[in-house]
Amino acid sequence: MKMVLTGLKCLEIRESDHVGRPPAGYVRVRVLCCAICRTDAKMWSEGHRDLVLPRVPGHEMVVVGEQQGRYVVWPGDCCGSCRYCRAGRENLCEAMQIAGFHRDGGFADRVIVPQSSLIPIPKTLQTVIACLAEPLGCVLHALEIGGIGVNDRVLIYGGGTLGLLTALAAKTVGARPVVIEKNPDKIRLAAGFLDKTKIVCLANTDENAFDLAINACPDETAFKQGLTRLDKGGRFLFFSGLTKNRMLATGLLDRVHYREIILSGSYGLTRENMRRAVYLLEKHQGALKHLIEAVVPPEKAPELMPRVLAGDGFKYVLDFKGSFVNTE
Ligand SMILES: [Zn+2]
Ligand SMILES: [Zn+2]
Repeated sequence: MKMVLTGLKCLEIRESDHVGRPPAGYVRVRVLCCAICRTDAKMWSEGHRDLVLPRVPGHEMVVVGEQQGRYVVWPGDCCGSCRYCRAGRENLCEAMQIAGFHRDGGFADRVIVPQSSLIPIPKTLQTVIACLAEPLGCVLHALEIGGIGVNDRVLIYGGGTLGLLTALAAKTVGARPVVIEKNPDKIRLAAGFLDKTKIVCLANTDENAFDLAINACPDETAFKQGLTRLDKGGRFLFFSGLTKNRMLATGLLDRVHYREIILSGSYGLTRENMRRAVYLLEKHQGALKHLIEAVVPPEKAPELMPRVLAGDGFKYVLDFKGSFVNTE
């Protein structure tokens, strides 16, 4: 079975096709689990730059290969020869094809992926936790661009899954993260994770000498506040795209000028980021289990979309293990 996006807000259950052999360099693998990303929900609600319908969404998947090993899947399919690929910036490939956008993704019991996108995971890593490899890999990519270092004071906007993963990743390199989440209910829900990791999450802060600020939410207020809370020479990491068509005062950008602030974007991840993510996930499973909101049958996906879009709850994971029986 597979979930197919046939139009805006139309996610339908279909039988998987029994297609022939995948092309050279590609393999057909069985999906164990696929997490729902906010990008999937956004795409469901309003489409996406890279989306062509009908499409099977999903890019946060754990699969089992022909040799029975489990893998996470780097969602990209890059050309390997453009100047970005040659420079090791494969996430910026000029001919990038992303699972769940340009080609069918992981909301299905089976998926065709490039062999070179499979990243093995250790036996000790739980399948459900491994679904976080893609979002965590994006976080590691962002922190790498931001040049995070030991003792850096890091301000993170958004106490959702991505914000908390960012804080954890920052902490593992010896930085000092503070998460800002304006919704007190969300802070309460994060208690298990915050307690285990000793990460600080506040509704607001008066401090203004941070080395690095990151927006892990689409609210433009985070962007504005983050810029004003940076120390001179600080770095702002533009990690989440902003809600469209909001006004930003140009005076804010003057701060970038006078205070020599470095503003960097970050988009997606490389295979190497994802390998490192797998390593970190395995080490921090005890804390990360608190970021799994629920593991649900795939049929639940349509009703979960509005919740994911609204940022309610942490990660929802679609479990495809039960759907193998009919399709073998
Ligand atoms: Zn994602
Ligand atoms: Zn390329």
